[in-house]
Amino acid sequence: MVENHLRGRGIRDESVMAAMATLPRELFVPPGSLSRAYSDDALPIASGQTISQPYMVARMTELLEPRPGMRVLEVGTGSGYQAALLALLGCLVISVERHAELAAAAEARLGELGLAGRVRIVVGDGSIGRAGDAPFDAIVVTAAAPAIPPALPGQLAEGGRLAVPVGMRGRQELVLLVRRGETFERYDCGACIFVPLVGEGGFSEKAAGRRRWPGRPLV
Ligand code: SAH
Repeated sequence: MVENHLRGRGIRDESVMAAMATLPRELFVPPGSLSRAYSDDALPIASGQTISQPYMVARMTELLEPRPGMRVLEVGTGSGYQAALLALLGCLVISVERHAELAAAAEARLGELGLAGRVRIVVGDGSIGRAGDAPFDAIVVTAAAPAIPPALPGQLAEGGRLAVPVGMRGRQELVLLVRRGETFERYDCGACIFVPLVGEGGFSEKAAGRRRWPGRPLV
């Protein structure tokens, strides 16, 4: 997985690849998908959600430039794989998930892996961030938003980095914002496909259920 799907496709951060080489993805996928645990696919998990494709997890993680001790907010715990990776890299993670069932399963996995001390999982709407726990050195949104969720940039620390997929169903742009004082540098980092971010700073439940999400075409 690391050689073919990550290094082979342009991932450069050696610490991210080393951590992914030690993290057993088979613990995060449902039994029926075990044979595909190390293929470069997003796979279905409970509650109609997905565990992201390994390449995309690596790409988002390297964009955050993770360092030990960094405070990271993840929006969309899902299986807990991305949170586990950040914890392995030494980050202190708060991860928000709207489905309680997924949050509980992810918490159990992180416990088994001995990573629970570095990850706090919260059930709720992460699309508005966590003002009470801000500022964060990095924020990673692992679900697609119609636009950058307005509450998130202001929750970044100076120099902090926000990675978020922005766009419509079937194709989004991975956007990176870097905080410089009160301004934000924006980088468009390529196409991606995620499940919808549902909440105040994302899509409405109704819109997310439609075959076509409302939204502007990508620029
Ligand atoms: N990071 C995950 C991938 C999760 S898929 C992993 O490594 O497995 C995206 C997740 O975002 C889904 O579990 C979905 O339920 C969750 N989600 C969607 N909108 C959300 C919101 N507003 N707040 C918190 N979680 C949300």
